[in-house]
Amino acid sequence: MEISKQEFIAELKIGIEALNVSYSSEQLEQLWEYYLFFLEENKKYNMSTITEPEEVIKKHYLDSLVILNHVDFEGRKRWLDIGTGAGFPGMVLKLFLPGDSFYLLDSSAKKVNFLNQLIYKLGLKGIDATHGRAEDVAKLEEWRGSFDYVCSRAVASLNVLLEYAVPFLKIGGEAYLYKGPEYEEEIRGAESALKTLDAEIKESIKLDVPGLEAERYLIIVTKNDSTENKYPRRAGIPKKRPL
Ligand code: SAM
Repeated sequence: MEISKQEFIAELKIGIEALNVSYSSEQLEQLWEYYLFFLEENKKYNMSTITEPEEVIKKHYLDSLVILNHVDFEGRKRWLDIGTGAGFPGMVLKLFLPGDSFYLLDSSAKKVNFLNQLIYKLGLKGIDATHGRAEDVAKLEEWRGSFDYVCSRAVASLNVLLEYAVPFLKIGGEAYLYKGPEYEEEIRGAESALKTLDAEIKESIKLDVPGLEAERYLIIVTKNDSTENKYPRRAGIPKKRPL
């Protein structure tokens, strides 16, 4: 469906206001530019099946932004988005947290290439898209144990995701993990991973994404102690044999 810039921005405004998140006209413009470039590149690279404007607004933009009501805004934070895809949630969060630094990580080179072009187009500073697998990148000294926050959406079940995410966090850092209605079952299946990785669930929150019928939850995980060097295990093993 074709949509004009005015219509897109009007729809976006309604959603962001319903979320109770403050915004500027620059941020709305940036999300429009993002949408246009995403549509153009998606034709070539097939990054997402969600392309209708209303769907992108609800399922990608508002769903990414909904956690802002649960984030501590004090100080400048260092964020990592694991398996960011076309930038959800990390790229969208960066636009609303311009002072924080964001690292977007994905194992697909075409998505990382799209994100680097988008970062350049929007003239953003303090954001970087990197091609790699979480299991490999978490071994690098400058990445390991260095993030205040890790976020991730639609990448793996909680027990697998914890092995990807916790090694990147500073002690006391938090992971913001976006989940669907099966979250309780995933939490039950992640007990052993939490214990092994010295992490705990701080909170599970039911999210309210305006106009979205699907049930959405946020699981906040805190890291309590440094992670043993053997985690994450080598690429592919966390998924094959979850902790
Ligand atoms: N987070 C985005 C979203 O919600 O729209 C993308 C979700 S997509 C279903 C999962 C993404 O995770 C893919 O882009 C894939 O390349 C990436 N991915 C899967 N396993 C990964 C790993 N071990 N390390 C880094 N990226 C990974």
